Amino acid sequence: MNLTGIVYRPPYEADSLLLQVTQGCSHNKCTFCYMYPEVQFSVCPMEQVEADIDEYARYRPNARRVFLEHGDAFVLSADRLLKIAEAIHRRLPKVETIAMYASIQNIRHKTDEELRRLRVAGIHGLDIGVESGLDTALAYMNKGHTAEEAREQLLRLTAANMDYSFNAILGCGGAELWKENADATARLINAVQPHLLFIGSLHAEPGCRLYQDMKTGVFKECTIGQLLDEQERLLCQLDLKDTYYFGSHPSNIVPMQGYLPDQKQEMLAAIRETREQLRAHLNEFPKRGGEGSILNR
Ligand code: SF4
Repeated sequence: MNLTGIVYRPPYEADSLLLQVTQGCSHNKCTFCYMYPEVQFSVCPMEQVEADIDEYARYRPNARRVFLEHGDAFVLSADRLLKIAEAIHRRLPKVETIAMYASIQNIRHKTDEELRRLRVAGIHGLDIGVESGLDTALAYMNKGHTAEEAREQLLRLTAANMDYSFNAILGCGGAELWKENADATARLINAVQPHLLFIGSLHAEPGCRLYQDMKTGVFKECTIGQLLDEQERLLCQLDLKDTYYFGSHPSNIVPMQGYLPDQKQEMLAAIRETREQLRAHLNEFPKRGGEGSILNR
């Protein structure tokens, strides 16, 4: 199988077939990102993609879900994605869903008709790093979209009947804007009503601009207490009809998941209980290990 470099995938894609169709990320300049620093973005040749599908057809003929790699595979043209979907369905007839990472810009570059055709071909379950609803935070993080652009494009996905995960990062506004970040992000999430909400917390690895900015004090990281307050403030304001909140990422002070609105009170109680347990440490900064995992939880 041609999977090059470090391969990232969302945690809930653990059982999916990982099929590489691009290398790196076409954007590759988010301030906090350390995923593909040295990788020049390129599109994998169709012959290589077909050879990988053939190999999967021999070893995992009953697979139901495929996740296209790498960083923003939805950048591919609708024609190319339809060709890949057709090749998958021909050799792996039980596949129901073809998911991948996507950016707001990737959606903007597709027409409504293309989105509908992609959905019919089984492409949905997009994993989208929206990160925040606060324009100041989005601009600093260099995401390449505003909150309003995210709202427009996500509603286009819903109109095309495509499910997606809205990925948001607690702490994106830093210590100075954590309240504004929670409020604006809750507003955006409520406006688009995602099927899945994936919550992580901001962390920086050597090699990205955010790491330097945290070291020099240009960006002021949230304390443990502020991260808990932001998570609580966000959750309190969420007014969702039917969304799964996936917050089990190791970067979170309180890893949790559950259905909203049904489990909201239970989840708020868990945050408040953790705040009590960590009362002596609320003004400290999180100590982090691999993938931003919290060591002083
Ligand atoms: S879009 Fe994703 S993979 Fe690309 S630079 Fe931003 S965070 Fe990294």
